[in-house]
Amino acid sequence: MSVTPSDIQEELVALARSFAEKEIRPVAAHYDETEETPWEPFNKASELGLTSYDLPEEFGGGGITDLSTACLIHEELTYGDAPIGNFIGSASFFAGVIVELGTEAQKARWVPPLCGPNPKLGALATTEPEAGSDASAITTHAKPVEGGYLLNGSKTWISNAGVAEYYLVFATVAPGTRSKGITAFVVEAGDEGFSVGNKLHKLGQRCIPTHEIFFQDVFLPEDRRIGGEGKGFSGLMKKFDESRVLLAAGEVGMGRASLDYAVEYAKERKAFGSAIHTNQAVSFRLVDARMKIDQARLMAHHAAALADAGKPFSAEAAMAKLAASEACWFSAWACCQTLGGYAYSREYPAEKWLRDAKLEELWEGTSDIMRLIISRDMFPRV
Ligand SMILES: Cc1cc2nc3c(=O)[nH]c(=O)nc-3n(C[C@H](O)[C@H](O)[C@H](O)COP(=O)(O)OP(=O)(O)OC[C@H]3O[C@@H](n4cnc5c(N)ncnc54)[C@H](O)[C@@H]3O)c2cc1C
Repeated sequence: MSVTPSDIQEELVALARSFAEKEIRPVAAHYDETEETPWEPFNKASELGLTSYDLPEEFGGGGITDLSTACLIHEELTYGDAPIGNFIGSASFFAGVIVELGTEAQKARWVPPLCGPNPKLGALATTEPEAGSDASAITTHAKPVEGGYLLNGSKTWISNAGVAEYYLVFATVAPGTRSKGITAFVVEAGDEGFSVGNKLHKLGQRCIPTHEIFFQDVFLPEDRRIGGEGKGFSGLMKKFDESRVLLAAGEVGMGRASLDYAVEYAKERKAFGSAIHTNQAVSFRLVDARMKIDQARLMAHHAAALADAGKPFSAEAAMAKLAASEACWFSAWACCQTLGGYAYSREYPAEKWLRDAKLEELWEGTSDIMRLIISRDMFPRV
């Protein structure tokens, strides 16, 4: 298959590309260095609808709910900068399960505040100190009590924690039953008993705030539960399938960023009297990067097309994320090799691209877990 955007998609790509060029790339190093939350590009993006384009129109979003278009837009934003692009695109990570499983009243309560200029932020919290890859092993307990639930436990590595107003928290209503008891709830920042721990300082994608969060006897009325008891795990897995396709598109954007830079550098830099690209050791490395990135783009769009057609796409989403995260890592590495010693200087962007790329092989399922998903598709359990 090929990726040939329609006229409308081309317009959206042009908007995202120009925003990334003017408002994201020039400030990327600043936010990396300071680890400040990138409010300025985020709020500017919100004025153009880029923070909520993928939320339903009836709740204030842009109504672009097909993954194929979202992939095109996200690739451009992360071409500007991965963490700022991911921060700008984070609304549906919180809202996706609510749109899928929530009641109309719940959608009307939590989706509109994420839309329009200067919107509120959400976060999605499943990972715990003792349960990451094995999401069904979470122990945060939502104990059924009169009128609702009492929530106790903690989550770690939560992106947007501290700056988010709303948290989609996965907890078990029946400890010891693994995925069967897992249920989704919305916790609001001001809820009594909810607190945010210290900021976690990271290797890359530093400007996305990441914290532990804690729940101590947080009372959640019934209407904070999203979907039925025990329906959270399947909702989470579906959300991950979709967000892995988007992550793959973002990784393609990241890979392109480092590749483009390396190609220009290889044209300018001279060694032994010639531009370094005239050495096949240099140009072939960049050829490989280009090929891996293009393969990954096709895989991301293939998975997106299946999703948009309502067909199963879990394995394709996992393959796309695996291939794209490896492609963007390879491209960042090849960029560093191309720059030689200058790659190691913080005056140049290559080392940042390498640091940012590492995360892509870890979050929302490590590369091992992607392989596990793909192998289960090939060798189904009987
Ligand atoms: C910067 C950052 C932001 C994040 N943001 C969020 C967020 O917003 N919300 C959220 O809920 N989580 C978030 N996470 C958590 C992330 O999704 C987990 O870190 C990830 O799923 C891996 O879990 P773990 O760290 O517990 O590793 P573990 O599960 O402890 O895995 C450790 C190693 O064992 C391997 N492994 C484990 N099980 C298997 C298996 N069955 N087969 C083969 N290999 C296996 C893994 O691949 C890995 O190499 C974030 C993480 C980071 C680093």
